Amino acid sequence: MTKRKREPTSFHSRFQEPTDNDRVEALGEFPLNAKQPEALWEHTPCSSPDDLNDPILYHPTMQKIPPPAYELDWLAQVPEEGQSIADYICFLTSRSGRLRPIANASGTTICLLPIVSPSTSKECWWPDYAPKLEYLATLTKNYFQRPVKILKPATLTISSSVRKNSSGNLSGEKSSKTVSLFFCNEQGQVCKNTRITVRHDSRTRRSQYEVTSILNQLSKFRYDTYGEENFCVMGVTMEDLYDGPNDLFCAGMAFGGDKVAVFSFCRYHPNLRMSPLRWWDYGYSTKPGTYSYFDADTGPKISLLPSPPKPSKAGEIEYLRRSSKLLVHELGHLYGLDHCIHYKCLMMGTGHLVEDFQAPMHLCGVCLRKLQWRLGFSVEGRYHDIATSLKEMGLAKEVRWIKMQLASITKKRKAEGR
Ligand SMILES: [Zn+2]
Ligand SMILES: [Zn+2]
Repeated sequence: MTKRKREPTSFHSRFQEPTDNDRVEALGEFPLNAKQPEALWEHTPCSSPDDLNDPILYHPTMQKIPPPAYELDWLAQVPEEGQSIADYICFLTSRSGRLRPIANASGTTICLLPIVSPSTSKECWWPDYAPKLEYLATLTKNYFQRPVKILKPATLTISSSVRKNSSGNLSGEKSSKTVSLFFCNEQGQVCKNTRITVRHDSRTRRSQYEVTSILNQLSKFRYDTYGEENFCVMGVTMEDLYDGPNDLFCAGMAFGGDKVAVFSFCRYHPNLRMSPLRWWDYGYSTKPGTYSYFDADTGPKISLLPSPPKPSKAGEIEYLRRSSKLLVHELGHLYGLDHCIHYKCLMMGTGHLVEDFQAPMHLCGVCLRKLQWRLGFSVEGRYHDIATSLKEMGLAKEVRWIKMQLASITKKRKAEGR
C-alpha cells in the first residue's frame, strides 16, 4: 500500500452494514437460551460463569466500525457477514449441546513455540530487539484466562548450500536452499526434523519461509511432541514468512481445526520501512514510525539500516502493542471467533499494516460475551488481570480504556441499586 491522502471510500458492494438492531441481536438475549459448556472452568483463574447473563457487562462504551478510509481496507475488500453469539454457539456445539471436536474442549494450555534460526540466535535464542516473550505470554494468559507455556524453541537450520537459478522481479534473486525445522521435546531433546520451503534473495541475503510448510509440520507433530493437554501450539518467530509467490509477506496463519498457528513479528518492528512491491526490499530507520511503507518507485527518502536496531523505549512499547494484538487476535480465531463487524474491536479484519496498527486491543461486547460463554471467566476479574499486564508493558492508552469500562460497569450497577 502506498501512502496517500485519506480518501473516504465505501464498504464492499456486498457488505451489509449492521443496523443497531443487528447489533442487539448479535449480542443475544438475556438470559441466553443456550447451555454454557462447563468445560474446564477449573482452569479459569477468575471464574464466574454467571457473568454470561449480566447485560451490564456487555453494554459499555463501544464505537461502531467507521466506513473504510482506503480502498485496501478490509471491509472495502471483503463482504464479511459477521458472527452473532448464536452463530458462534452453533459453530462450536453439537445438537446435544456438547462442544464439538473443533472446540478442543479437553485442551487447556496455550503453548507458545518460539521458532528461531541461527542467524537470529547466535547466542541469545530470542533476539534482544524482539518483543519480550514473557510479556506476551502473561498478557495471553490474562486475556484468555488460561495457562500459557513457552515451549523450548524449534530451530530453522540451513542444511545445504545455495544454488542460484534465476532472477525475478517479484521473487527476488532466487536461489534454493534446504532448510530443516527441528522440534524439541520438554527435555530439550531434538525429536523431529523436517524440511521447510524457503525463498531466498542472494543479493540482500534475505530469506522468507513458507508459512504452510511450517504449519503442516507443526500439525503433524503437535500431539507427539507437546502432549494432548495443550489447547493449541502457536509458533512465534522473528523470521519473515510468506504464503503465495506474489506475497510481500505473511504476518501469520492458523490451521483452526488443528489448533496450530504461526506468527511472525518481523514486519511489526516500529523502525521498519518496506517496499510495497518487493519482499526483500526493506530496511530500518533510526526512529520508530507509524507508517511502514516507502514509495516503490523512488525508494525510501532516508538511507536505511540493513539490520533491525533495538527500538527506543517508545518504539519498544509500540512493538509490544502491535505484536500482542496480533497474537491475541489470532488466538481469538482459534477459540472460534470470526471477524467482527459490529464494533471497533480486536477481532476486526485488517487489510494492511496501517489498519492493523489502528485496531484496538479490546474485544467488543459481542465478542467478549462469546468468549465468556466458552471460557466462563469473570468479566471484571479478567479486565483487572489484563490491565495489570498492560501496565507492565507500558500500554497506558489501553489501561485507560479498561479503567473506563470498569467505571462504567460500577456506575450502571449503582444506578440499578445493585
Ligand atoms: Zn483475523
Ligand atoms: Zn467484536
